Amino acid sequence: MRFHKAESAFFVFIFVILAAGLVTLYAYGQLQFIAVGHDTTSRVERIAYLNTLLFVTGVLLATALFFGVLFIYPLIRRQATEEGKLRAMTVSLSARSETLQHAALTDGLTGMQNRRYFDDALKEYLEEFRRIEKPVGLMILDLDHFKQVNDTHGHDVGDEVLRAVANCLKGMTRYHDVVARLGGEEFAVVTPNMDAELLGKFAERIRKAIANMSVLSGNVRLKITTSVGLAVWDRKETAEEFYRRADRQLYEAKRQGRNRVCA
Ligand code: GH3
Ligand code: MG
Ligand code: MG
Repeated sequence: MRFHKAESAFFVFIFVILAAGLVTLYAYGQLQFIAVGHDTTSRVERIAYLNTLLFVTGVLLATALFFGVLFIYPLIRRQATEEGKLRAMTVSLSARSETLQHAALTDGLTGMQNRRYFDDALKEYLEEFRRIEKPVGLMILDLDHFKQVNDTHGHDVGDEVLRAVANCLKGMTRYHDVVARLGGEEFAVVTPNMDAELLGKFAERIRKAIANMSVLSGNVRLKITTSVGLAVWDRKETAEEFYRRADRQLYEAKRQGRNRVCA
């Protein structure tokens, strides 16, 4: 077994104190001897011996004191400082990894959850809702003719529209809904506890809100519409199958002329 420097120093310190203690104990025995009384020569010798013992005790205690102050205390200080630095480093590292984790799951443009978060959250919701036997709805939205918006007004205005749609979705959804930007001009909302009828009404409200929204580009008020595909989980399909079913409804909404909800 190998001892750390501070541990070895501590053992030496204890050893010196112990030695001083033992010498003191021995000196006490000598004192008793003197107290009982013997002839004067022997007592004088013993007192001289006692003197030496007390001196040795003093030297041992002084050694312990110097050793403690000059060696052990600086070691403890250094260790405490190093530990403090390490702790600060751990805190900053874990904050950094939290930021990275947050960045990995967030869409940079809109601040919404991203596709990766959505995929994981959908799977988790389905697992949870399989147990509690409540419905789960899914809504996929794709902005209509968004390429034209970019081509006519520029990419920055397109970005502004995406942020406005994101804010609208965030404002209209509930705390436990998962609202994500899947990529490009496509968004999704997972709506726990919503059956087909509720989900249909909710999607229609969102579609109208987006159609009534306007984004200012120079002095032009820009209007945008969205197509929406809906599905309510059939309790058997996987997250991928569920997603694909809603996506087929979105395709159907586009096919029927856009700016509508299909379920
Ligand atoms: P549809 O009605 O069929 O959906 O037509 P669309 O024009 O919306 O669809 P399409 O897939 O042809 O075009 C999507 C456009 O979205 C193309 C691309 O330039 C634009 N886009 C994708 N990501 C971004 C983005 O982050 N910012 C901006 N401004 N535009 C983006
Ligand atoms: Mg698209
Ligand atoms: Mg589109």
